[in-house]
Amino acid sequence: MIYKNFIGNQWISAMSGQALPVIDPSDGQLYGEIARSGDADIDAAVRAARNAYEGAWGNMAPAERSRLLWRLSAALLDHADELAQIESRDTGKPIRQAQADAMALARYFEFYAGAVDKLHGATIPYPNNFTVLTVREPHGVTGHIVPWNYPMQIFGRSVGAALAAGNACVVKPAEDACVSLLKVAEIAMEVGLPAGALNICTGLGMEAGAALSAHPDIDHISFTGSPQTGKQVAMAAAAHYAPVTLELGGKSPQIVFSDADIESALPVWLNAIIQNAGQTCSAGSRLLVQRAVYADVMARLSELFQATRTGPAGDDPDCGPLINARQRDRVQDYLGMVDEAGITIAAQGKLDANAPKGGFYQVPTLLSDVPPGHTLAQEEIFGPVLAAIPFDTEDEALRIANGTPFGLAAGLWTADGARQMRFARKVRSGQVFVNNYGAGGGVELPFGGTGQSGYGREKGFEAMYGFTTLKTIAIKH
Ligand code: NAD
Repeated sequence: MIYKNFIGNQWISAMSGQALPVIDPSDGQLYGEIARSGDADIDAAVRAARNAYEGAWGNMAPAERSRLLWRLSAALLDHADELAQIESRDTGKPIRQAQADAMALARYFEFYAGAVDKLHGATIPYPNNFTVLTVREPHGVTGHIVPWNYPMQIFGRSVGAALAAGNACVVKPAEDACVSLLKVAEIAMEVGLPAGALNICTGLGMEAGAALSAHPDIDHISFTGSPQTGKQVAMAAAAHYAPVTLELGGKSPQIVFSDADIESALPVWLNAIIQNAGQTCSAGSRLLVQRAVYADVMARLSELFQATRTGPAGDDPDCGPLINARQRDRVQDYLGMVDEAGITIAAQGKLDANAPKGGFYQVPTLLSDVPPGHTLAQEEIFGPVLAAIPFDTEDEALRIANGTPFGLAAGLWTADGARQMRFARKVRSGQVFVNNYGAGGGVELPFGGTGQSGYGREKGFEAMYGFTTLKTIAIKH
């Protein structure tokens, strides 16, 4: 299958004529090719977006824009099964997880369709011979650099909000996971999105991604991916003063006090690290457990890890393959450190006998007694690897929780109401879940980080502010 760029509602090959392979992570086999875009393709997409912004799309009344996005959300729901099949094959996501992503994609468009005509400004008291008002205006042309872990969800949360706010979008999906988004573009065209409102150029980060972040006619960039690349994108955007939203992952802690309801929490902790094979920016990848219940938690969680099934996406296992060989090797390099500093493997899951040899598999792994400062407790592994860390006091738990360069999400497990409030306020994190954990979920919930997890907020109504700029109008009379 040959997939082309989507520019101005047309399917166009890369101007260089070059293409990149599309690989199925479950078996490592090639099943298609995507366009390898460069500067010229990105430039064409940005011009198409600018024309749309200055034309049919930019001039559309909010209520009409809202209706169009409702139609798109309904069409995405109608195509949810097909989109899930595409995403599952392209990313190696177990089919049930891909279905959840397809539903979330539709839900993002539903949520933002409803938000379009509720984005009010304010009037500001000033001397009596003035009327002062604020107006929320779109940035203009927004760039969206999407990673491979949740293409549909991350597209939904950033492009959904950007379109709702009235921007025209240029999207650069990750080279490892593009196909579902090209299908979304086809659906958007079918429901009547004006040409140029949405454009998608596939290609490599160093080429198409770099061209998009450096393009002088891009007014805002939304980036999700690694801290290193995020910094490069922000620096490129700074050259033309474009604001950036960065969502860069984390090392999110689950903090478990001895009064927690452990029984009901165990499957949540497991899911928070094996969902999407641990390739989730808000994966609960550190488990901080109060020493009084540490041995009990480790014994019970070990049983759950051992019972997990890893295998090809189509079989709907608990854990699918990682996205590519590089990611699998990266995770295995981290696991090569386990004998250091008293760290041991407490439990591992099993690989299905029928998992194709060419697939990029890593079984879920529970590590015990990881010192809080060790690399395995500090860096984002981005695989199904959970680092368990015992602690004694609340102060120590807070120090460990806040002791990484990240701050994206945290799970707090305790029945003590005062501690819930106290800890939630002090933990350095964009989101805090108390006695639950919603890794990646919650269309309505503002999401983003601090420190190396990035800055800016997406999701929820908050994203509507991020994809607009505020104008103050002072009228003297
Ligand atoms: P990456 O940050 O390099 O890639 C993310 C996106 O950025 C992709 O679309 C890529 O094509 C693009 N990109 C790459 N280089 C670019 C550049 N110079 N300019 C503009 N865009 C560029 O991530 P990766 O190399 O695919 O993965 C490496 C690590 O990043 C992972 O192991 C994981 O730790 C982290 N990661 C985090 C997330 C997240 O959701 N926070 C997502 C993907 C990867």
